Amino acid sequence: MSWAERISPQVQTLPPSGIRRFFDIVAEMKGVVSLGVGEPDFVTPWHIRESCVYGLQRGYTAYTSNFGLLELRQEITNLFTHKFGVSYDPRREALITVGVSEALDLAMRAILSPGDEVLIPIPSYVSYTACVSLAGGIPVTVPTLMENEFRVTVSQLEALVTPRTKALLIGYPNNPTGAIMPREELEAIAAFAEKHDLIVISDEIYGDLTYSGTHTCFSSLPGMRERTILLNGFSKAYAMTGWRIGYALSNPDFIAAMNKIHQYTMLCAPVTGQIAAIEALINGQHSMEKMVREYNGRRRLMVEGFRKIGLNCFEPKGAFYIFPSIKETGMTSLAFAEELLKQEKVAIVPGDAFGESGEGFVRCSYASSTANLTEALTRIGRFIQQFR
Ligand code: PLP
Repeated sequence: MSWAERISPQVQTLPPSGIRRFFDIVAEMKGVVSLGVGEPDFVTPWHIRESCVYGLQRGYTAYTSNFGLLELRQEITNLFTHKFGVSYDPRREALITVGVSEALDLAMRAILSPGDEVLIPIPSYVSYTACVSLAGGIPVTVPTLMENEFRVTVSQLEALVTPRTKALLIGYPNNPTGAIMPREELEAIAAFAEKHDLIVISDEIYGDLTYSGTHTCFSSLPGMRERTILLNGFSKAYAMTGWRIGYALSNPDFIAAMNKIHQYTMLCAPVTGQIAAIEALINGQHSMEKMVREYNGRRRLMVEGFRKIGLNCFEPKGAFYIFPSIKETGMTSLAFAEELLKQEKVAIVPGDAFGESGEGFVRCSYASSTANLTEALTRIGRFIQQFR
């Protein structure tokens, strides 16, 4: 038996991330304008970096509690009390994780038994279906439509819920579409979750990057605190992707179960990142808001740019992605992305990487400089002329 054949079937059948595969090609090319990776182009604000340096000087180099530094958990739960009016006990209802990535994996492994179904609106972040599958569950994807601004509806969910459905996994503001859900529609989803007794995993990593209205925290909706596993982190809003700090808030049973896995697999999140995250919460509001304003300006530039070129696109309301339709070219998303890269050296992500209903769209990240965005728009405009 070859080495490859000895890999577990669960991993063998897992498709590689459509994003990474594409960017391995990009990394080898010169002169590429990349709107590919979903990562802030800002460096973490200096006062946050400095707090980490100071922490190291003071000798903070050891493991922390499995749950994470209590001070960080307190800052997080205070934030939720003041901002969203939902209270959590920092000692029993908060867990600091290695990014939202780990929190997502822990949530799935803590609640799923083999064959349990999880409803996932798509297009969605690439890890959602993968984490469900790796935990032995069955991802049941719910295609959302551009005509409905990529929002999921209760009737779509009702059509796919079964007695095996254990949970609903949502992520708004959405990666890759930039969709948000208005409060009334989230309330309808909450009633649906209650009716079918589902657990809701709500990934709100882009919550602070909401440009239209205010973000509604799912667990702050009446009756939702207990049945929700709220995920959030510092990577996007504070430009802290490399620090690897996220967190989960939920009822004590779910948090204890997630911590059980976390203590054997991760032990704790990096102490350096935890110290920096405390500083981000105490003094980082101003620098975060400055970055959000900058993203908002770039968002407008991209919407106007795509409209001028004549590519049909939904105006994103949150996160830092725009998801234009390329259907008029008659190409698949992958062919469009590959040809654009070859002819014009612009890197974007094919929409089908985020689920089948992403076919016919491409994801462009505007977490890139205005000069890069303007150049990318010029090149994309030139590229699509050949299809007219
Ligand atoms: N959730 C969403 C929707 C994301 O887009 C990403 C990263 O792109 C993550 C989670 C992972 O974030 P973290 O860096 O906290 O692991």
